[in-house]
Amino acid sequence: MQIRLTYFSKAVRDMSLQDIQDILGTARSNNADLEVCGMLCYESRWFLQTLEGDRDDVNELFLEIADDPRHDDVVISSYEYVDQRQFPDWHMGYAASSGAVNAMLLEFGMESFDPPAMTADQSVAFLSAMSQRQDRDAA
Ligand code: FAD
Repeated sequence: MQIRLTYFSKAVRDMSLQDIQDILGTARSNNADLEVCGMLCYESRWFLQTLEGDRDDVNELFLEIADDPRHDDVVISSYEYVDQRQFPDWHMGYAASSGAVNAMLLEFGMESFDPPAMTADQSVAFLSAMSQRQDRDAA
């Protein structure tokens, strides 16, 4: 059974590029082994992440992530069973503070990156749009 879990959390301090690279390095290697895909966005100390994959693998991985001391106030914003993955091409895509994120926020009618104010659908749609944009930019 495949699921998509989306959560947001607050970084305990400003994350440096190296901090983010460390997270992504571990995430991409572990997620590839587990065949878990997803997308992570970091902006204004907020993390917004979606994880897709086998239910037990994602549940277990999420518990580990939620326990990570680099962030707290972890809130699951949606948990759904899916027939098809929306992020099949990324073991962990990433978007951070950039013109692309700001442009996407405007497209979504948001003035700032504020995951607690986003609906569950908006969160997934935002991350999906960011991953599609990365696919386009990388092509
Ligand atoms: P290690 O990376 O060696 O970590 C061992 C322990 O040390 C873990 O408890 C870890 O939380 C802690 N740790 C590691 N580095 C630091 C550090 N710099 N500061 C403080 N504590 C540290 N992992 C994934 O596998 N997939 C993901 O998609 C994923 N997404 C993440 C998203 C966010 C926002 C954060 C903060 C972390 C994410 N992680 C992800 C990392 C995850 O929380 C665990 O660190 C990782 O799964 C453990 O990997 P590991 O077994 O190789 O051990």
